[in-house]
Amino acid sequence: MKDTLKRLHSRVQRIITNGIAPSAALFIFYILITIIALQPIAGAAHASSAPSGNSSGSLINTILNLTAEPSIDISEPRIVFPSNFQYDSEEKTFRISKTNGFTMDLNQAVHMDLYHQHQYIITLTTSNPSHIDSGEFSILDDYFQSVSVVQNTRDSSISLTFHLQQLKLFDLSEDENDYIIRAIHPSERYPFIVVIDPGHGGNQPGAVQSGVRESDLNLAVTLQLLDLIEQNENIRAYTTRNSDTSVGLRARARLGNEVGDIFISIHHNSALNRNARGIESFYFYYIPDDSCDYNDDDYCDCDEPYEENNIYDDLYDNAHLLSGRGLAEIMQRQLVSQIGFPDRRVHNRAFVVLQYSEIPATLLELGFMSNSQELAVMNTETFQRQAAQAIYDGLLEVFALYPPPR
Ligand SMILES: [Zn+2]
Repeated sequence: MKDTLKRLHSRVQRIITNGIAPSAALFIFYILITIIALQPIAGAAHASSAPSGNSSGSLINTILNLTAEPSIDISEPRIVFPSNFQYDSEEKTFRISKTNGFTMDLNQAVHMDLYHQHQYIITLTTSNPSHIDSGEFSILDDYFQSVSVVQNTRDSSISLTFHLQQLKLFDLSEDENDYIIRAIHPSERYPFIVVIDPGHGGNQPGAVQSGVRESDLNLAVTLQLLDLIEQNENIRAYTTRNSDTSVGLRARARLGNEVGDIFISIHHNSALNRNARGIESFYFYYIPDDSCDYNDDDYCDCDEPYEENNIYDDLYDNAHLLSGRGLAEIMQRQLVSQIGFPDRRVHNRAFVVLQYSEIPATLLELGFMSNSQELAVMNTETFQRQAAQAIYDGLLEVFALYPPPR
């Protein structure tokens, strides 16, 4: 089964990278011909909503888009920007001209960073909301898919929705002729960025004990941690999820690699032995050693070879860089001293989110849900605030000792 999936996967990969194989191209051609042949029937069905010609075009576009690039919106935004609204793909800036006495209040701008939806919305109060045409304008470069303009005549504002290919923030400024909206990487604004990963979620609850789901506990601690970080203007936190949704393991690591200085995955433990108690933290460091089965995504404990191989620690210390192990050790110490559960120490383990992280990453197991005493404590807001405070203090310590090497 696994082999079949692998073969299927590599075949899809080949199609994506090499384009469509001749036989597949023939098949699509056949489908297109069929659709064109059936067009009068489809046109009749949609007669009230659209002329049949358009319907045929959009169906063909749909198929071409599905085969070429599934992430492209098929609503066909306009390619040409209006004269008052320009995009410079070199500078990654948008300019709204000040012609005809047009003004905007940049200080009153409302920013909505919907990074989980790959969108960023800026709403600006203006002297004339119809200064820029409304509609969606196509970009399709490495930063943007498109930008949508909505005129709100009721409060004389304009809403710009940026459909993003990468996670970005926006700086607003003006010069003599234009208002300028520039896309920036979050590291241009924040000295320190942490990506927090509440483990599991959606259809994957993680451990479930006495009706308590691990995914909910992980999220509760994360939300408390966000409250603390939001009060510190030097630190920006992004989360892999902020509600009960499913997120792929590699996608979680990818977000960390895209924007983070460090990655912290929050979990709660569980074991068959109900006496098992305490806090443990994980990091991953690849060691070329036959005794480590790094192909096993779920379980690999390679503490022993690591302990004998302090060369890795030395390398990091000499470069004044934070290692995943260093990060795990700081978090472990803060958690144990503030929560008071037993210290189960740090371990090298090939968890997927750690394996795919290219930044210092740790996975924290805050205590055992399978232990009734620890579960009772962990299922309280008091504990969740305490755990969040310990992680936050760990962040401050990491930040002070290891400023990100950007
Ligand atoms: Zn977990």
